[in-house]
Formats: sequence, C-alpha cells, structure tokens
Amino acid sequence: MSLDLDISTDGVLTADTNLVQSWADLNALKQSGARTVIVSAEGAMVRDSEGNELIDGIGGLWCVNAGHRRTEIIDAIKEQLDTLDFYSTFYNFTHPAAAALAVKLAELAPGNLNKVHFGNSGSVANETAIRILHHYYNRLGQPQKKRILSRHGAYHGSTNLAVAMTTPGYSEGWDKSGELVHHLRCPHHWREGGEMTEAEFLGALKQDLLDTIQHYGAETIACMIAEPIMGAGGVIVPPEGYHTEMAAICRAHDIKYVTDEVVTAFGRLGHFFASKDVFGVQPDIINTAKGLTSGYQPLSATIMSDEIHEVISGPGGMFFHGMTYSGHPAAAAAGLANIALMERERIPERVRTSGKTFEGLLRQLEAFDIVGEVRGSHFMIGIEFVKDKATKTPFAPEELIGLRVAREAQKRGLIARPLGNILILSPTLIMDDAMIGRVADILRDSIAALQSSL
Ligand code: PLP
Repeated sequence: MSLDLDISTDGVLTADTNLVQSWADLNALKQSGARTVIVSAEGAMVRDSEGNELIDGIGGLWCVNAGHRRTEIIDAIKEQLDTLDFYSTFYNFTHPAAAALAVKLAELAPGNLNKVHFGNSGSVANETAIRILHHYYNRLGQPQKKRILSRHGAYHGSTNLAVAMTTPGYSEGWDKSGELVHHLRCPHHWREGGEMTEAEFLGALKQDLLDTIQHYGAETIACMIAEPIMGAGGVIVPPEGYHTEMAAICRAHDIKYVTDEVVTAFGRLGHFFASKDVFGVQPDIINTAKGLTSGYQPLSATIMSDEIHEVISGPGGMFFHGMTYSGHPAAAAAGLANIALMERERIPERVRTSGKTFEGLLRQLEAFDIVGEVRGSHFMIGIEFVKDKATKTPFAPEELIGLRVAREAQKRGLIARPLGNILILSPTLIMDDAMIGRVADILRDSIAALQSSL
C-alpha cells in the first residue's frame, strides 16, 4: 500500500526540537534518532519519515477506531468549517452540529443517560463528571459528599484531578490534588488474586469497597469511577460480575457509578458503549472521548442521567462549567460523521468477529516462556512478560522488556506500545483477517527474537 502524503522534516525534527512531548522520558529524547516521526497514514497503516510503512497497532493512541484518513469524516469537518467555523455553546448560544451529536449520543448511551456535556479530552470529561457531581450534591444540600473512589491501576488523565484519580504510580515525582480520592484494590485476578478463585477475589474486592464506605461514611462519598477494562494501567479485565456488583453496592449507599469509557466505547469491544452492552452495568455517568471522533478532532463527552441533569438544571443555580471549545462545530461534525460511518459499515458488529480473531491469535502467545499473561478483549489487548512464568516474577524495570519487544516489532512493521513489562495493542478496528494474522506473526517473531537474546 502506498501512503501518498509526505512532508519535509528538515530542521523541525532534530534531537533538540522545541516540542515538549507527552508521557515521555524527555532526557532519552535528547538522543538523536530517539523519535519516530509519523508523516502520513492510510487505513490501518502509517508511514514514518524514513519511509517505513507500519501497521498502526495502537490506533494513534487507542483512538483511530474507524481507520486513518477516512474521507467521509474529513469531508464532514471541511464542510462544517466552510459553513460555521466556530461558535461556542456558552450562555444561550448553540449550533446544529453539537445539538445533533448530543441527540445521537443520547440514543446510543444506555438507559436514562440522555444529557451530554462536551469537552475536548478524556481528562476534561472525567473532571467534568466530578465537578457536576459535586455541584449536584451541593444542590441537594449534601455538600460533604465529595470523595471519589477510584482504583489502583486506573488511568483517568493528566489534569490535576484526573491524575489524582489515576493509579498513584503515574504521579511519582509530581504533585496532585489527591485529598478527595481513595484508591480501591486493583481488580486484576492474575496479579492480585493470590490463591483465591476469581469468585473469591471478587468477594474480596467487594469487601474492600464496603470497608472503604464504612471507613469514610457514605455521606462523604460522591462516586466511584471505573474504566470497564483498565487501559493504560495495563489492560486489566475485572472478574466476571465486578461492575454490576460494585455498582449495586454503590447504589445501595447513594454513591454514583461513573464509567470512564474513553477507550472502551465506539466499537473497541464490539459495541458503541461497553458499560451496559458488555458488562451489564447501568452507570449514572459515562465519560468518553478518543473513538468518538476516531481521533480526527479533539472531543469528549460527559453523558449524564436525566436524574442528575434534573437536579443541576433546577431553578436557583448556574452551571459554572465549560471550555471555550466544548462542542466545537468541527469536532461535533467529526463525531457525527464517524458514528454514521460506523453504523453504515457496522464496525462495532464486525469487531465482535474480527476482534475475537485478534484476541484468539494473540492469546496463543502465552505459549512463550517469557509471556506470563495475554489479557484484554477484542481490540484491547495487553501482553505481560515475566522472568519466571511459574512464580510470575517480573523482569526488573531496567531490563526494558516491553520497550525491547516493541522495538523488535517496529523493525518488522508494527507499532505496539510498551508499558514497563507489558506490551499494549489497541489497533484500528478495520483490519482484515490477513492483517490481523500479520500482527500476530510479527509479535510471535519479535517475542521469539527477544526471548532467544536473553
Ligand atoms: N481515561 C482513559 C481511560 C484514558 O485511556 C485516557 C487517555 O488515554 C484518558 C482518560 C485521558 O484522555 P485524554 O488524554 O484525552 O485527556
């Protein structure tokens, strides 16, 4: 396949570029050649500045669900900019694209989740949910109900509160405003379950929640926030029944259940939203971003229940929240076109088959001595490497195992994301069986090469 766009990289992409990159070892990036410069893309592939064509095994950043450079989405953005480049959704102003996308999201979201506030990132969607719930309880005369229950292993974003809700390891050496956040146990049976069966482990997780509620008092806790499958914490699928049972405990204590579907929505697990359709849980708020526009425009949504909206929209208060670009016309147009394309091409339905093929092939990698667990679901997979399989002993961080496997894969034509001892795959959702097979082959060869070098 030939990717037709190219740009000159002379002068702007040297080792001492002015760009401060995100979530990077900035010191390591001072080495010349440390960066991969992506210059163009098409479908499930990208091309780097050296001319290498690579399978985009991380879908941009868990977000290019519909594939790269889909003309339907690009044309919709252009058309919108040609008609109305920008107007805000502040005060009494609105515009057709944001209003239509809110209608569409209300149709797709489960149950009574019918009211949508837009932002421009997953972090902002999560912050918005918390600000709304705090205001909600203030309005109900319960201003002390402010705590947030999150989990070890969670990732909820990079802004101050979002990072405080994120697993503590992700803010080492950094400050955060974490006084309102309590981290519950990580629901990873393979790593955290010890000798317990999965059902016993679920019992322990429920007990942890109950103990926490008893410790702080339900009257001080606003919500629990949970990714249906944890992503950036290592692709962790909770025990069967986890979300419904945790949500039931929360509901019994008047604690709202918020799901962070920044990654799990828009087809990645075979449905537009995973909370209800995959995990059977009806949340009070769903936060989403990424696949909402397949990454073509920065857009997030905080989708709340009618009940929450009823309280915050009652007389005698103001909604003091919103970002200039909340519901930006071009982003909303991208969201509408992306959803229309997904419906037309039945992408979520097709993922139920192709994603299972992907998952099945990658699970075979557990045959390697250095692969401890292949986990995840459909197009959201993590491969954890171990030094000793029987004892699950991890490799020392300085062995950089994930990074070394990722480098082997990139040499062979696949971008995968290293995360310590884990390799993450979150590709576009449009790969055919041949390309899925190619990803599995590359991973097999890459792991074999690394294993034999150890
Ligand atoms: N929540 C989850 C589950 C995520 O994976 C991410 C980003 O990877 C975020 C929130 C933050 O989204 P953003 O980077 O758009 O702020």
